[in-house]
Amino acid sequence: MTRRWLVLAGGWMAVALAGCAGPSRNTLFQTSTIDALLAGVYDGDLSLRELRRHGNFGIGTFDDLDGEMVLLDGQFHQVRADGRVYSPDLDGETPFAAVCRFQPERQVAVPSGLDMEGVEQLLDREAAGQNWFAAIRMDGHFKMVRTRSVPAQSRPYPLLKDVAASQPVFTCKDIPGTIVGFRCPPYVVGVNVSGWHFHFISRDRSFGGHLLGFEVVTGMAQVDMLDRLVMQLPATKDFAGVDLSRDRQAELEGVEKEKK
Ligand SMILES: [Zn+2]
Repeated sequence: MTRRWLVLAGGWMAVALAGCAGPSRNTLFQTSTIDALLAGVYDGDLSLRELRRHGNFGIGTFDDLDGEMVLLDGQFHQVRADGRVYSPDLDGETPFAAVCRFQPERQVAVPSGLDMEGVEQLLDREAAGQNWFAAIRMDGHFKMVRTRSVPAQSRPYPLLKDVAASQPVFTCKDIPGTIVGFRCPPYVVGVNVSGWHFHFISRDRSFGGHLLGFEVVTGMAQVDMLDRLVMQLPATKDFAGVDLSRDRQAELEGVEKEKK
């Protein structure tokens, strides 16, 4: 790259970072639907290798519901129910995942002391426009992080709400790491998780999972607004036969959030 092009690229970056909050033609790719997962469609249909062709950043789960997925910088991490983090085989499959090519448009320092709700409110201001999708990466140091995972299931598959009722929960204190997540618009109910959905991976890649709560010491969040949704639906008998006509929002609330 010549010096002239470097200058031009630098100027463009400055405009992009300082510009409007709107998306820049970025795509959220997802396989299956959240309601199919809630209904127990846990057989993977898309390999991780294939999934990674659609993005280097995202969250999801694995074949048989075997743990929580964190895809960060193109690397998959599998947080299993034993609380350990594994490097999954790229030939393994996923029954539900959402990914994007992470290209942040803006970043914001996250004040010390904020909890998950506080961070969500901060990000809602930064990622203005709730009818778009938003990907968020937050690197930081945390006073406390609480996660959960889910154990691998065998047939006949139970509903996700019944699996989550006995999910293992893990707490780690004084830990650096990265939050990976998305905010989906209200109208995606049934398709994905409406609102914020975060997973976590520690900097040393030894701790993580679906985020239930945290407290920030220091953090820097990056936001990537997304304005396209691409879905690939499983070509399986289970998906073809499952009843996706009813409202599973109450079940989803119970699965995603911590029991109070
Ligand atoms: Zn999750």
